[in-house]
Amino acid sequence: MNSCGVSLTTAVLAFGDEAKKMAAGKASGDSQEESFTLTLEERQALGGMDSRLFGFVRLHEDGARSKTLLGKAIRCYESLILKAEGKVDSNLFCQLGHFNLLLEDYSKALSAYQRYYSLQDDYWKNAAFLYGLGLVYFYYNAFHWAIKAFQDVLYIDPSFCRAKEIHLRLGLMFKVNTDYRSSLKHFQLALIDCNPCTLSSAEIQFHIAHLHETQRKYHSAKEAYEQLLQTENLPAQVKATVLQQLGWMHHNMDLVGDKATKESYAIQYLQKSLEADPNSGQSWYFLGRCYSSIGKVQDAFISYRQSIDKSEASADTWCSIGVLYQQQNQPMDALQAYICAVQLDHGHAAAWMDLGTLYESCNQPQDAIKCYLNATRSKHCSNTSTLAARIKFLQNVSDNWNSGQSVSHHPELQQLYSLCLTPQKLQGLHKSQSSCLSGTTEEQLLFSTGCAQYHQATSTGFKKQNEHLTLCSNSGPQKVADSHLPSHIATSNGQQGIIFTKESKPSKHRSLVPETSRHTGDTSNGSADVNGLSNHVHHTIADVVSGPNHGVSPNLLISDNPQLSALLIGKASDSMGTGTCDKVNNIRPTVHTKTDNSVVSLPSSAISTATSSPKSTEQTSTNSVTSLNSSHSGLHTVNGEGLENSQSSTKIDLPLVSHRSACQIIPSMSVSICPSSAEVLKACRNLGKNGLFNSCISLDKCPPPRPPTSPYPPLPKDKLNPPTPSIYLENKRDAFFPPLHQFCTNPKNPVTVIRGLAGALKLDLGLFSTKTLVEANNEHMVEVRTQLLQPSDENWDPTGTKKIWRCESNRSHTTIAKYAQYQASSFQESLREENEKRTQHKDHSDNESTTSENSGRRKKGPFKTIKFGTNIDLSDNKKWKLQLHELTKLPAFVRVVSAGNLLSHVGHTILGMNTVQLYMKVPGSRTPGHQENNNFCSVNINIGPGDCEWFVVPEDYWGVLNDFCEKNNLNFLMSSWWPNLEDLYEANVPVYRFIQRPGDLVWINAGTVHWVQAVGWCNNIAWNVGPLTACQYKLAVERYEWNKFQSVKSLVPMVHLSWNMARNIKVSDPKLFEMIKYCLLKILKQCQTLREALIAAGKDVIWHGRTNDEPAHYCSICEVEVFNLLFVTIESNTQKTYIVHCQDCARKTSRSLENFVVLEQYKMEDLIQVYDQFKLGSDRYALSLSSSS
Ligand SMILES: [Zn+2]
Repeated sequence: MNSCGVSLTTAVLAFGDEAKKMAAGKASGDSQEESFTLTLEERQALGGMDSRLFGFVRLHEDGARSKTLLGKAIRCYESLILKAEGKVDSNLFCQLGHFNLLLEDYSKALSAYQRYYSLQDDYWKNAAFLYGLGLVYFYYNAFHWAIKAFQDVLYIDPSFCRAKEIHLRLGLMFKVNTDYRSSLKHFQLALIDCNPCTLSSAEIQFHIAHLHETQRKYHSAKEAYEQLLQTENLPAQVKATVLQQLGWMHHNMDLVGDKATKESYAIQYLQKSLEADPNSGQSWYFLGRCYSSIGKVQDAFISYRQSIDKSEASADTWCSIGVLYQQQNQPMDALQAYICAVQLDHGHAAAWMDLGTLYESCNQPQDAIKCYLNATRSKHCSNTSTLAARIKFLQNVSDNWNSGQSVSHHPELQQLYSLCLTPQKLQGLHKSQSSCLSGTTEEQLLFSTGCAQYHQATSTGFKKQNEHLTLCSNSGPQKVADSHLPSHIATSNGQQGIIFTKESKPSKHRSLVPETSRHTGDTSNGSADVNGLSNHVHHTIADVVSGPNHGVSPNLLISDNPQLSALLIGKASDSMGTGTCDKVNNIRPTVHTKTDNSVVSLPSSAISTATSSPKSTEQTSTNSVTSLNSSHSGLHTVNGEGLENSQSSTKIDLPLVSHRSACQIIPSMSVSICPSSAEVLKACRNLGKNGLFNSCISLDKCPPPRPPTSPYPPLPKDKLNPPTPSIYLENKRDAFFPPLHQFCTNPKNPVTVIRGLAGALKLDLGLFSTKTLVEANNEHMVEVRTQLLQPSDENWDPTGTKKIWRCESNRSHTTIAKYAQYQASSFQESLREENEKRTQHKDHSDNESTTSENSGRRKKGPFKTIKFGTNIDLSDNKKWKLQLHELTKLPAFVRVVSAGNLLSHVGHTILGMNTVQLYMKVPGSRTPGHQENNNFCSVNINIGPGDCEWFVVPEDYWGVLNDFCEKNNLNFLMSSWWPNLEDLYEANVPVYRFIQRPGDLVWINAGTVHWVQAVGWCNNIAWNVGPLTACQYKLAVERYEWNKFQSVKSLVPMVHLSWNMARNIKVSDPKLFEMIKYCLLKILKQCQTLREALIAAGKDVIWHGRTNDEPAHYCSICEVEVFNLLFVTIESNTQKTYIVHCQDCARKTSRSLENFVVLEQYKMEDLIQVYDQFKLGSDRYALSLSSSS
C-alpha cells in the first residue's frame, strides 16, 4: 500500500516504516492487521483533525463516519505505539490525545497528552496540544490547570483560531473562582470576537449580566437582562432563562417597591419564562415559592406539582412542599414531604432541620435530635454550632418532655422511609390539602400541645432555615444514585458550584441556568450550559452567587449571616478551583509512578460514576481522581510496557509549571551576538510566513512566563524573621553619600529603611500635614477604602471565625476636607475612649471588668469599620507647588524626577508612578499585599504623626505568594489580599517586619512584595522610581510579560520605554545593555514582519507620526501595549478619535481588517538608526544622558 508513504500528520510520517510493515502485513492477507491501517483518504481526513475541532465535529447526527474514522485512527495509533516498543514519536501521543478528545474519551485524551508533555520539551510551542489539554482539564473541573493551559495558548499564539472559545471558558472559570474582574474581561474579549464558538453572543451576554448579579450589582444585572430581552430573535431558551433570573431576582431582592409589587413582578417574569419554556421545572418551582410567600397556597401547590411533573424529583421542591404544609398546620403531610426530600438527598441539611423542627413542634425531642444530628452530618450544614447547641438543649429537656408526654404522635424516625410521598401520593396532594385545611383533630392537637415555648423558640431560631431551603439538582436521571452526594451546590448559597453533565438531557437540560444550584431565599444564581453550537459539549457550569436577601459574594462575607459566611468560606477553600486542582495536581505523579495507594486503590466501579453525570464538586473531584486513575490503566493498554518503565520521571509531576522560564524572556546574550539591524531584518524576511498572525515579539517563540518556584534550599525556620536593612542618617552629607544608593538598589536588600531622612535633610514634612493639605486644596478628591479594623498581623473574615487572605474593601470618594474631619474626629474619639478606660480602670481596679474585657478580646470580631484615604493625586504642579518643590531636596536616586530614573524617560505621566500620591490614615488603615506596577521600586515617606507597620517579602518568593493567592481564589495581581503569617512561616517564606516612624523613608526594591498597616494617625507620600540597573529592567520586562499572560494591563509601557532609553541614555552596564538591545531587536523584527505582511496582504500602512509627548498606546480591547503600528477603525480614524486596537483584536472583529486602517508612528529607518546607534557606554559606572533628552 502506497498510502502509508503519504503521511498527512507528522506523527504518521515518523512511522513510515511501521506503517509499511503493517501494510505489508495486510498485503499478505493478515486480517488481524486490517483495522490498523489507514487508507490515503482516511489519512487526508485525519490530517486536519485536532483539538481545534472540538465542539465542531458532529459525532451523533451525520457524523457517524467521523466517529468511526477517529476510532479506527486511535486503534491504529495505539497499535503503532505498541509496536514501537518505547521508541515513540511524541507527536503520535499528541495526535492520539486529539482523537480521543474529539471522541470525548477524556481520560484517554489526558493520558495521551501527558505522554506527549513528558516527551516533548518544547510542548509549549504546540497551541493545539495546549488547547486540547485545557479542554480536558476543563472537563475535569481542574480549573487551575485549565486556566494555565489556555493562558499558554493565548500567550504563544494570540491569534489562535479558537481564542474566542478560550476567552469564553476562561470567563466561566474565573467567574467560578470569584475573580470577577478577569471573568468580565474574558467574556468581553469573547463577545467582540466574530469567530464561532460553542456559545452564542446572547449566551455570552447572559453570562455578563449574570456576572453583575453574582457581584450583587442587581440593578446593573436587571438592566443587562432587560437589554438582552430586547435582542431580536433571542433563542427561546435564553429568553426563558433571562426571565427566570429576573423573576427570581425580583422575588429575593428589593428592586421595586413593596413586597406585593416585587412579588407581582416576580410572578409575571416567571410566567413569561414558562411561556418561553413551559417545561422548566425550576421556573415552576420558583413560581411556587413566590405564591407561597404571598400566601397563595393553592397556586403554590399547583406550581410545585408542575415542577415535580416537569423535572426529576427534587429534594428542594419536596422540602418546600413540606414547609408549605407545615405552615398550613398539616404536620403529617409536611412530614411526608420532608421525608421525601431526605430520601432523595440524604444530605439535605435544610430538610433535616425542618424535619427536626417539625418533630420538636410535635413534642418528639428524641426524633428531633436525630434529625438535627443528620443535619449536622451533612457537609452542607451551615450552622453546625447553633444546631449542636440546640441538640444539647433538647437532650437536657427531653427527659422532662418524655415524662409529661409519653405518646408519640408522629412516626418514629425509623419508620420514616416507608412514608415517603410518591408522585402517586402527590396526585392527591390537592385533595388532602384542602381537606386538611380544616385540620384533623389529631393534628390540631399536635400543635396545641404544651410545648409552645419550644415551638416558639424553634420557629424563631429556625424560621430562617425554612425560608432558606436548599435547592438541589433535579436535572439528572441518576438523582437517587447520586443522592449520597450532598447537594452542596444548592446549599452553597452564595457560592459557585460546577455541574458537568456528560449526557445532555434533551428538553430539561438545555437551560442556561440548569435546574440546579439555586438557593431559596437567595437570588438565583446562574450557570452556563456550554451547549450552544455543538450539542456534544455538555459541560454545564452552574454557579450560585448571592446570599439571602442581600446576595453575598465571598469577598464580602456578611457578618449578620454567619452560617452563610462559613459556608462561603468553606466552599471557597474546597471548591473545584483549588480542591480539585490539588487533587489533580497530586495525582499527576501517581498516574505514572503508582506511589499513591489511595489513588490506585480506588474501586474501579467508581469510574462509571465518574463518567456519568456528576453534579457536585465533590463528585467531580472523585471524577478527576478516578478518571485519572482510569487513564493510568488506559495508558497501560496503550503501551504494553507500562509507563513506569518508559517514563523519564523527572518532568512528570508538574507538567505545566515545572520550570521557570521567565528569565528566558531576556536570555543572557553576549554583546557580540547582537547583529546589526540590517542583518536582523534580512533574516526576518526569511522567517515564518505566518508572521502576519503572530504578534509575539520574540525572535523565536518564548515559552510562556511562569512564577518562580520557592527558592531552594528552604531557609531554616530561625531565618524567617530577618532584621530589616536600616540606615540611620545624621546629616545631609549622609543622605547624599553614593553608597546609600548602591545599598538600596542592591538586589540582596529587598527593603531599606532610611531612618531620620527628613530630619537630616531638614525637609518640611509639615507641608503634607492634614492641616496644610486642607488649607492648600480642601476640595481635592480622596479615594476612600472602607475597611475593618484588624490586628496588623492577622486578617479575619468579617465574623471573626477564620483567618483568611482575602481582604476586599469598598471603594468610595470624598474630599480632603471631609477626610480630614473624619481623621480628626477618629483621633478625638480614641482620646475620649482612652480617658474613659483610664478612669474605669482607676475606679474598678482589678475587678471583673478587666477580665471580661480580656476574654472578649480573644473572640475576634465584630470588627470596627474604618476609612482609609488613599491614592490622593498630587501630580498637579500648580496645586501642589510647595509640596513638590520640597521633594526636590531629596537625593537624586529617590527623587520623583531624575535622569537616572527610568520612569522619567517614559515621556508622559503615569499617575502614582512618576507622580506623587498621598495617603491619609487612621489606625488600622491597610495597604494590601502587592508588588509595585511592573516591579518598579518605590519610595514612601511617613509624614506622621503616627507610625506605620510594614511587612516585606523578597522578590524571589512572589511565586509562593502567587500560589497562596490561587489557593484562596484570589488574583495575585488584581485582588486585595493580606497574607497569613502562619502560612508564610509554614512555607519557609522570610518576612521582614518593621515600624516606619515619621520622617523615615522606606525604599522598596524592585519586585519586593509588601503590605502596610497604619499604627497611628498619619499621612504618607509615595511614588515609584526605576533605577538604571539590569535587575530593575529585567524584573520590569518579566512582569510586563506576566501581565500579558494574565491579561492585565502593564502601566509601564516597556516597549515604548525601551526605545526612549535607547535614544536618551548611555548604558555602561553590559548586562543592562544586552537586555535592552535584545528587546529592541525583538520589537524591530516584529514591526518589520508585521509591516511587510500587511503590505503583502494589500493593506495600506498610513503614515501618522507622533507628537512629542504623546503617551504610549494600549489596545482599547485587551489592553496590551501597541507600538508603532496602530489599528484604528475607519470610523474612529475619520472622527480623529484614534481608538487603538492591537492587530489581534482588530482581526477578531474584522478578519481581513476591512474595517481598519493601520497607522504608522515611526519610520523603520528611524528605528533601525536608533537600534544601531545604541551602543554600550565606555564609562563603566557613570550613566550619562545624551543631549537629546
Ligand atoms: Zn488587543
